[in-house]
Amino acid sequence: MLTIKNLHAGVEDKEILKGIDLEVKPGEVHAIMGPNGSGKSTLSSVIAGKEEYEVSEGEIYLEGEDIGELAAEERAHKGLFLSFQYPVEIPGVSVTNFIKTAINESRKAKGMEDMPANEMLKKIREKAELLDIDRKFLSRSLNEGFSGGEKKRNEIFQLAMLEPKLAILDETDSGLDIDALRIVANGVNKLRSKDNAVVVITHYQRLLEYIVPDFVHVLHDGKIVKSGTKELALELEAKGYDWVKQEVTA
Ligand code: ADP
Ligand code: MG
Ligand code: MG
Repeated sequence: MLTIKNLHAGVEDKEILKGIDLEVKPGEVHAIMGPNGSGKSTLSSVIAGKEEYEVSEGEIYLEGEDIGELAAEERAHKGLFLSFQYPVEIPGVSVTNFIKTAINESRKAKGMEDMPANEMLKKIREKAELLDIDRKFLSRSLNEGFSGGEKKRNEIFQLAMLEPKLAILDETDSGLDIDALRIVANGVNKLRSKDNAVVVITHYQRLLEYIVPDFVHVLHDGKIVKSGTKELALELEAKGYDWVKQEVTA
């Protein structure tokens, strides 16, 4: 699904990612953890194709296709979803209308017609029901006055509607309360299948009590310094990141 080989990237003359290798297979959930400033958000941005970062070396493949040269939008149309790609407030545009437009734009990019209105409505109803989202929420203006939990609900709804092959959820928000964590985790758990994959990026072990990952990787100073199964997250919880740092520098 996703293969990253020897990825080096940064801004201007500062290297942030210093040789990342990662293989994510269909059906898998990977967690990327690491202390603040280790490069987690940079990694998600570089995979998504954000222009502010420059890739100096290495390759990124999505389903075997080298996507390294594609613009962020093209990567999204190929089935890559990055959380918080639409954090902007859009007064007057509802949660529903926004997702309708996103879906039809994605279809257009593939040379497809708009999704028929009745099919769209059916899909919206199904996904809203699956995720316990009520109708009132669907008619609210996008992100306008949304609480942390509502932002997450919207994000998970977008994820459910767009059905990406690979979702990267960068849980950067230090203000994530337990409700918001549960919304994300329930959504991911309901949406995970053998045909998609999820990369959850987080500073917090707590999220992984709700989303049980198949693999855990620890990022430190732009490199994956340790990989393991879910037990690694527990070990980190108990011993802290200093333990990994010490192992690396020893
Ligand atoms: P994390 O998400 O793990 O906290 P980041 O990827 O946000 O880490 O940042 C990693 C390092 O790269 C930090 O030292 C940060 O200051 C730096 N960095 C990230 N993005 C930029 C940028 N756009 N310009 C300059 N430095 C950046
Ligand atoms: Mg940070
Ligand atoms: Mg971050």
